[in-house]
Amino acid sequence: MDNDSASSRTTLAGVISCLSDYDPDALPVQDAQTIIRQFIAPVSAVEKVAIRSALDRVLAADIVSPINVPAHDNSAMDGYALHGTDLKADQDLQLKVLGTAYAGRAFDGKVGSGECVRIMTGAVMPDDCDTVIPQEFTRDESESGVTVPAGSVRAGDNRRLKGEDLAQGTPALRKGKILRPADLGLLASLGIAEVPVHRRLRVAFFSTGDELRSIGETLDEGCVYDSNRYTLYGMLTRLGCDIVDMGVVKDNPVSLENAFRTACENADAIITSGGVSVGAADYTKQMMAQLGDVTFWKIGMRPGRPMAFGRISSRGKDAFLFGLPGNPVAVMVTFYFFARQALLYMMGASEDQTPMTVPVRSKAAIRKRPGRTEFQRGILSVGEDGVREVRITGSQGSGVLRSMSEANCMVVLEHDRAEVKAGDMVNVILFDGLI
Ligand code: AMP
Ligand code: MG
Repeated sequence: MDNDSASSRTTLAGVISCLSDYDPDALPVQDAQTIIRQFIAPVSAVEKVAIRSALDRVLAADIVSPINVPAHDNSAMDGYALHGTDLKADQDLQLKVLGTAYAGRAFDGKVGSGECVRIMTGAVMPDDCDTVIPQEFTRDESESGVTVPAGSVRAGDNRRLKGEDLAQGTPALRKGKILRPADLGLLASLGIAEVPVHRRLRVAFFSTGDELRSIGETLDEGCVYDSNRYTLYGMLTRLGCDIVDMGVVKDNPVSLENAFRTACENADAIITSGGVSVGAADYTKQMMAQLGDVTFWKIGMRPGRPMAFGRISSRGKDAFLFGLPGNPVAVMVTFYFFARQALLYMMGASEDQTPMTVPVRSKAAIRKRPGRTEFQRGILSVGEDGVREVRITGSQGSGVLRSMSEANCMVVLEHDRAEVKAGDMVNVILFDGLI
């Protein structure tokens, strides 16, 4: 990553000293988010790509519209273009039809008072005409004439104005925007073939733990298959990162040091899972601390209490580190609520990438005590009375990945919130919108 910008940044201790009541053993979710956000830095490199390749990438400069969209006043309907001044509120209007204006083939004659031109949707408005009467409102249509019934249209109706979507010289898209399908279309509508985007973020990740087995290996007594690398693969891929999957790393100092150094030398950010819990008898924490400026937290949340965060260095390169807990649900929750926003910021995305919460009715009571944020897995549906409601999936254990798989949203029970009674409103975050 860009070393000079990173090394000139403050230390974690510096960032943390700005926080009042800092307690790494009972850190509110928001404080952890603030520290992360203040410590990390965006990757500055930019590349130019064709607009199709810009999908889901982060725009690196404002795009100013080189043209007016639409380029001319044009018709919003199939009908007849006329002079608004001819219209009388209480009198039908007989007009002479001079010809037809098609989309892409304008009518270029003069249109006087008492005259009109048959016009198709998108066709350029003939000179001096400012109003379109939709075809279905007219009477007595013939090749040469048409009647506009009194009161069927007002002056200026059904006309799209030049520059109405985008005026020439004004910003069409802002730097920091993540480009979605609509943005590709918008760029195309401006005739723009290439745009500058931030280079993809490289994120290395590995799992730690002697009990982990990879798919295809024998599941020895007391062992589990490594699932975290697959949820991380999915979440990072969806964010648009270049990923470096480093597999399972055994819990011994040599393997861990090698893995951390390799990750550091090859990526902008490193995500590990496991080995950061309190009292874990392993070398992960030790190696993180040895290689850089890393802090270990117990966050006031459930699931996902233990987490490491910081920056590590190896042979002149450095990378931001997110040491996520080992439990599969905790990995996803800490990724979504800490790493995701940080990575988006590193990718150059503009300030607020906080997922949107929507208040909905809780179908049943939910146990909760104040003093920690809970992220429960929810299923949002429509209740019998037609009102949206959420219920939580079965067991909320932090190892129960099925609860994530069945859920379509997270129920966020805020830090100070106490018991939820059936019928109370709770905030949810939907997993998928229109993607
Ligand atoms: P740890 O934080 O390393 O103590 O791990 C907590 C729990 O998560 C243990 O039960 C681990 O077996 C489990 N775990 C850790 N890493 C993974 C992984 N990559 N895939 C599935 N389970 C894991
Ligand atoms: Mg472990």
